[in-house]
Amino acid sequence: MRDLFGAELRWFQHIEETARRVFGRHGYGEIRTPILEELEVFKRSVGESSDIVNKEMYEFTDRGGRQVVMRPENTAGVVRAAIQHKLLASNDAVLFYYIGQQFRYERMQAGRYRQFWQIGAESFGVATPESEAESLLMLHSFLTELGLKSLVFSINSVGTPESRPAFHAAFRAFFSEREERFCSDCHRRIESNPLRVLDCKNETCQAALEGHPVITDHLDEASARHHARLKALLTELAIPFEENPRLVRGLDYYTRTAFEVLSSDLGAQSALLGGGRYDGLVKHLGGPEVPAFGWAIGLDRLVMILQQIHGEAPFAPPALLIPLGERAATEALKLARTLWDAGVPLQLETRGGALKKAMASANRMGIQTVLILGDGELDGGTVTVKHMATGEQESWPIGEACSRLRP
Ligand code: AMP
Repeated sequence: MRDLFGAELRWFQHIEETARRVFGRHGYGEIRTPILEELEVFKRSVGESSDIVNKEMYEFTDRGGRQVVMRPENTAGVVRAAIQHKLLASNDAVLFYYIGQQFRYERMQAGRYRQFWQIGAESFGVATPESEAESLLMLHSFLTELGLKSLVFSINSVGTPESRPAFHAAFRAFFSEREERFCSDCHRRIESNPLRVLDCKNETCQAALEGHPVITDHLDEASARHHARLKALLTELAIPFEENPRLVRGLDYYTRTAFEVLSSDLGAQSALLGGGRYDGLVKHLGGPEVPAFGWAIGLDRLVMILQQIHGEAPFAPPALLIPLGERAATEALKLARTLWDAGVPLQLETRGGALKKAMASANRMGIQTVLILGDGELDGGTVTVKHMATGEQESWPIGEACSRLRP
């Protein structure tokens, strides 16, 4: 877990502001759920067989004897809240986004933290490919406005729980013909959760999958139409996409569309985020039968990428106002108040003391504009302005400080 501040935190803030702006204009409203949820919420949603639930959750018994978990992800909490507050009772589309920290007891490795941040969007109550296109378009705007380029949406359909047995049968037959080439985890998966074999990280297994039956060839008719329509919409919207028959989500409540966004901004193409349709989850968690679609992106990694592409987040340090002496200190507070009220970013030097010390601080803070207010300036109704980049110095009438500094 780490502390965030300075240049890195400014990237987090910039991303969060971009998210709020883009999602807000799509009609999504923010939702904030508690960090602690009951254990059951994640057991039932993320799945008891998942690594997250088995090995990575911060779980403990609270003073009231309840088994609680620090959320490892946010979808389960959003669904729990939507059910609890009966937000899904009508046939309305319910559109939520969240920004929050998640907790997983992960092994130490670069870019993986035990407290990390995710931004996600979930739409409830709409089962159409149009709602998916809308959500993907929003995601595309969000990433584009952050300055990411060469985005590719990788998509697949995992069908429905009803139509999946047909694929499972074909896939198990394929597997059994070459089972010695698969790892022991895949031997377990083929029994419990065959789709998961497709996204095994093991290279030998990936090679053994060559020529595997493709799930989109085994879809029921409605799922096939849904998938074709989504592809047609993405084509119309000029959102670059490719089909990836190995892209899956393993649990039964995932239906139809699964997707990832790839970016080649960092050289080799790598996945920025993933998401999909989870029509069975709301009911599975005890709510009404309501379709849903959503995705989540990890902020920590996104910040790392943006730092590598763009360097520092857009940031203009405030001006610094340095008063010299007690009379000037009083007047500086009044002047600063006028500037602050007018929206001018300004830091006030309140330590007193020598000008030299204050100027050295200004240098260290990367401040560009320093205003100096001493007795001479007060008598003349002016303020001395030093531009740090050039070292140039000039004198402004005090009354003009505001209009000259306003961004
Ligand atoms: P997941 O919920 O595992 O599908 O991950 C969704 C997003 O969260 C991905 O974009 C990951 O980059 C990010 N993420 C997951 N776990 C961590 C972690 N321990 N530290 C940082 N980011 C993470």
